[in-house]
Amino acid sequence: MRKLFYLDTTLRDGEQSLGFTLNSQQKLLIAEQLVKLGVDIIEAGFPASSPGDFSSVREISNKVKGAAICGMARCVEKDIDLCVEALKKAESPMINLGLAVSPIHMEKKLKLNPAQVVERAVNAVHYAKKRLPEVQFYAEDALRSDPCFLREVFENVIEAGAAVVTVSDTVGCATPWKYGGLITYLKANVKNIDHVRLSTHCHNDLGMATANSLAGILAGADQTEGTINGIGERAGNASLEEMIMSILYLTEFENIQSGIIIKEIFKTSKMVSEITEMPIAKNKPIVGSNVYTHFSGIHQDGVIKEKSTYEIIDPEIIGAQKGKISLSARSGKAALKYKLDELGFAYHKSDLEFIFNRFKRTADNKTRVSEEDLSLLLE
Ligand code: MN
Repeated sequence: MRKLFYLDTTLRDGEQSLGFTLNSQQKLLIAEQLVKLGVDIIEAGFPASSPGDFSSVREISNKVKGAAICGMARCVEKDIDLCVEALKKAESPMINLGLAVSPIHMEKKLKLNPAQVVERAVNAVHYAKKRLPEVQFYAEDALRSDPCFLREVFENVIEAGAAVVTVSDTVGCATPWKYGGLITYLKANVKNIDHVRLSTHCHNDLGMATANSLAGILAGADQTEGTINGIGERAGNASLEEMIMSILYLTEFENIQSGIIIKEIFKTSKMVSEITEMPIAKNKPIVGSNVYTHFSGIHQDGVIKEKSTYEIIDPEIIGAQKGKISLSARSGKAALKYKLDELGFAYHKSDLEFIFNRFKRTADNKTRVSEEDLSLLLE
């Protein structure tokens, strides 16, 4: 078995995409729930970005125990100092330092050459390592970088004391085969890579954030980063609940171990949605409200006979209500009978055909047939 570390960045990457900021109280509630969910690391914020974010990270560090607390920082001393200060009372403090490594970011944004980028990264890791026990270094825009240069950056920051190195698909341009290939290359070629954790950080611009992260994990990544409900910059981050359930469900991940308590998934998702005012799409994998509801007559007949015919995940294991049958014009006799029995309606067996015909007529004029509709129909 190998242990997979989960870093949750709902409060950092997720929060920065909301268009408003969460207060310390709201962030504290989410952080406490993330501990119950069993994530290893909570990225609580970016202390240098604002006094409010600084106090939130400090508040979480003071009060939330049971997970490592991480703060983000650029590779500049002022950012690192503020992060160290905010994390002072954390049980296991951790800093997440980042620098861009792609030609476009180095030339246009940083205005640094590759050698200067390596130097800045190494200096920052050295500086942080003297002040904090655990330093993570993330290579921003790694998927548009030269893999040989990425290898050089990682070798240097590992030598400087980084305990975690992250391959960030900052702009969400990767595919599973490309992302997995890069992780395989780094695992095979970066000196001392087995002494540190290699982490994934994927964005969802092409709808592949979860798939890319899974490809990275399959190729040997030791840590994965994501957010609850997949919230985050632009199209969002890899969704933590999608990764967790894929790893649990797919046999290729049966050697993966983690501290996640899956029963807490649904509650965590609901809480994050409410506090962040980000509604969950009805068809959002794992946590959407339609995901365990069956509409088609063929599917309804199947799940009544055997749930697993159309339900690969039992919703009750993630703390959601059991699967539902939704009656509509697409439903068949099996579903109608199931629903009538479930709701405890009394009727004569020989009347079922007659009831079914009336039900079909009602259903054609409605999107869904409710309990009240059924009771009127039986009268
Ligand atoms: Mn990000």
